[in-house]
Amino acid sequence: MLERIRVLRDRIAQACGRCGRDPADIELLPVSKRQSLDAVREAVAHGFHSFGENYVQEGVAKHLEMPELKFNLIGPLQRNKAKVALMHFAEIQTLDRLDLAARLVRLAEELSAERGVWIQMNLWDEPTKTGGCPESELSALFSELGTSALLKVRGFMAIPPPGQESAFTEMALLRERWQQKTGLPLLLSMGMSGDLEQAIEAGSDQIRVGTALFGERTLQP
Ligand SMILES: *Cc1c(COP(=O)(O)O)cnc(C)c1O
Repeated sequence: MLERIRVLRDRIAQACGRCGRDPADIELLPVSKRQSLDAVREAVAHGFHSFGENYVQEGVAKHLEMPELKFNLIGPLQRNKAKVALMHFAEIQTLDRLDLAARLVRLAEELSAERGVWIQMNLWDEPTKTGGCPESELSALFSELGTSALLKVRGFMAIPPPGQESAFTEMALLRERWQQKTGLPLLLSMGMSGDLEQAIEAGSDQIRVGTALFGERTLQP
């Protein structure tokens, strides 16, 4: 893992060099989905303590084993799993619809749980297997989330279609528009193992990296 971390840090530094950013400003979120507990422990030994998980059940199981770590949900969230997700995930990155927002607001209150949430965007209108909402729904989402003292909007998360480089720039512009409208500081979570350079150069604040850090995923979904 050490060698992969070295390569990754170098890729981040190179991308930052090309656009005049400070590598310290880029958060590297390791994605531990379908990686073993031992793999997570190894990452912890290298200084990581927040992890991205795609599947609610897998993330909950890991959090129960390692309650001292923070797990962020980066995979789709169904309404009926909203409560268990809020109990075990420090942040939910896949908030993408009003009914889910309303439910999370109510459940956060019920559990007295302070949580970070990211609004997952889909500006590209591809089949929404991966979720995400269009910009037209953002006003309603921000209004709903604004009613909660416990849920804090951290920014926007996106999984742009592979190879569509303009997608990162579109997200950067969207962030600017909504920072102005809401007056909130909003971060961008975008970029994965295969496209983190383009994401960083477009202004991403957090990259979510699985295979480039851990190697191939080993567990079945
Ligand atoms: C799996 C996954 C990642 C990490 O993907 P890699 O290509 O392994 O880096 C990042 N974000 C989301 C939403 C994912 O599902």
